[in-house]
Amino acid sequence: MTTAFFSHPDCKRHDMGRGHPECPARLSAIEDHFLATGLADVIERHDDAPLAAEADIVNAHSTEYLRELDDVLTEVSRGEGLVALDPDTVACPATRQAVLRAAGAAVAATDLVIDGKASNAFCAVRPPGHHATRNEAMGFCFLNNVAIAARHALDVRGLERVAIVDFDVHHGNGTEDIVANDERIFMVSIFQDRFYPFSGNVPLGDNMVNVPVPAFTKGDEIRAIVEERWLPALEAFRPQMIFVSAGFDAHREDDLGRLGLVEADYEWITARLVALAAKHAQGRIVSCLEGGYNLSALARSAAAHVRALAGV
Ligand SMILES: [Zn+2]
Repeated sequence: MTTAFFSHPDCKRHDMGRGHPECPARLSAIEDHFLATGLADVIERHDDAPLAAEADIVNAHSTEYLRELDDVLTEVSRGEGLVALDPDTVACPATRQAVLRAAGAAVAATDLVIDGKASNAFCAVRPPGHHATRNEAMGFCFLNNVAIAARHALDVRGLERVAIVDFDVHHGNGTEDIVANDERIFMVSIFQDRFYPFSGNVPLGDNMVNVPVPAFTKGDEIRAIVEERWLPALEAFRPQMIFVSAGFDAHREDDLGRLGLVEADYEWITARLVALAAKHAQGRIVSCLEGGYNLSALARSAAAHVRALAGV
């Protein structure tokens, strides 16, 4: 079995305007690098991510929010202009399709892995999701792809315990908002302290380990935190599947954050998750792209992550 790679051309059509760091070129950079390095030959591509179903979305978001969001995105899709949902989060005519493909990719990847048709999966999708709360779009995010997929695994596919791992430089406040105190989900995260969205220092539930770290923290210190704080808690929880919010903006070359990870750190963290999944979760991992804004560092880091997922 192989590592599946989910995406859809619609994910590149979502464009928040000139100069916005969360840009379509992010996905092209990843795809180009995978082709150039031969990684594209060892993964199984699924460029046909379906649109997420309403029944799956409302397992993570309120029906009222989905209605409001869909009304706005449908309206924007009929025009030509951009509409800001928050200062950083902008809808263009193609946004509705991209949002639904991104969440749909996460759900389809979850089904493929649970059905045993792929060992694990990486979803190279935009927009990202981990800042989208139950009731709000923010921080470049509209729907919480990982939370929707995790709830699909639990509510639709009947798993009893799943873990969410978030190593984006920004705290995954949206995921925390959605999963706090859901005892079927255990969440671990690491993020830059006193930084957007300025949350996470006091966890909202007992089912999570939040580790804020100061600016300029490097990979060896972050590996120690993973070893000492994440892995024992995940071992004790024994997840049947692991979801990853794979943001690569903690890379030392990424100007949106001030942490010091490099490709080898992403490979190391991923390998530890692969080992944990092999022990407790029949190897099941679904990872979704979140941040990562230096195009070269993003592509190299995503490749390191996927190499570890694929064991090559
Ligand atoms: Zn981020």
